[in-house]
Amino acid sequence: MRLSELQVRHFRNLAGQELDLPAEGVAIVGENAQGKTNLLEAIYYLETFRSFRAARDERLVSFGQEFFRVAGVLMEDGAGGVVGGGELVEVAAAFRARGKRKKVTLNGQEPQRLGDGLGRVCAVVFSPADVALVSEGPGGRRRFLDIVLSLNVPGYLPALQRFRHVLGQRNAALRDGRRLEAVHAWDQGLVESGGLVMEERLRWVERWAGEFSSHYRRISGVQPAVLRYQPGVKLGGARDREGIAAAFKEALGETRDRERRLGATVVGPQRDDLILTVTEAGEARDLREYGSGGQRRTAALALRLVEAATIREARRQEPIVLMDDVLAELDPGRSERVMALMEEEETGQVLLTAPKESDVRLRRDSLPRWRIRNGMVEC
Ligand code: ATP
Ligand code: MG
Repeated sequence: MRLSELQVRHFRNLAGQELDLPAEGVAIVGENAQGKTNLLEAIYYLETFRSFRAARDERLVSFGQEFFRVAGVLMEDGAGGVVGGGELVEVAAAFRARGKRKKVTLNGQEPQRLGDGLGRVCAVVFSPADVALVSEGPGGRRRFLDIVLSLNVPGYLPALQRFRHVLGQRNAALRDGRRLEAVHAWDQGLVESGGLVMEERLRWVERWAGEFSSHYRRISGVQPAVLRYQPGVKLGGARDREGIAAAFKEALGETRDRERRLGATVVGPQRDDLILTVTEAGEARDLREYGSGGQRRTAALALRLVEAATIREARRQEPIVLMDDVLAELDPGRSERVMALMEEEETGQVLLTAPKESDVRLRRDSLPRWRIRNGMVEC
């Protein structure tokens, strides 16, 4: 997929501009705080209708303005995977601060539900902030899984929403010390929706763990790394949703006293995690506990490469690669290998930002260069 036109208005420090984007992509160079990340954030907004920096919509409206709007014209890939050889689609999103109103349109039409417009744009962001995926708590890794699966696996998002709703109700009943039946009335809904969520998470990890390891090895040069799913329920070998739901139900039975005491459900996918390890001197070490900055960044990059591969497989589109200053903090060997890997991996459009000219090395320097200053792109 390719982004051919982009319009932004009152989005963070981007006052208003219309850009025609080159098919191969562009390298955008600008000093700190000029709007490089904001521009990529605006583009990615069209995929999920949320900020990839997890900022609330109100924060995205330029200071002193009432609304923002982002619109993109995209060329989908054609049959046989010809990049940019398919249909044209216009995706637009606008948000008005007063009343917090969000409006999304696809080719000028409002979809019935916002969810129907999700994932129409296929893009992956590589950001320095991704390192938090590896180094921080499990919540960020679950959010990563949820975004990837919601966009790429039909049925995942409704199951997740149902699970969250039921969990909220069940936890409220536990917190308020309601009768046993009032709590357990939610169990069936919880294990059914939770079973689907866990099944898809497990499947995804099994499908892509090998690719994760090989990307990690390619970038690091030598080290093997492993991605594992750590379920928040003892699965005891269960693999499909019925088996997982049964294991979940059993676990609920075993934790009755504990959940009463704590006033919250203590087993389930809300306790899931992804475990990332590297093997050093024959021992598997958790990157979260022991990883160096560069090792964590490498693992985060490998996760994003797997996200891109998931889009290719599930949505049959070559994702637009949005690389926000990714070489920061990598040693020269790793940066070279990341660039080499990127050149090999993808044939699609790349939008790359960097604060210095010297960090723009993708495609043997052949990408067009733009500058950005004070929220205005100079083509
Ligand atoms: P760096 O190289 O440091 O990452 P950058 O070019 O990526 O810099 P951005 O994060 O894109 O910088 O932009 C930061 C600027 O955007 C800051 O100066 C910030 O004040 C401004 N900004 C953020 N939110 C808003 C907003 N809602 N309205 C106006 N300006 C904003
Ligand atoms: Mg930035």
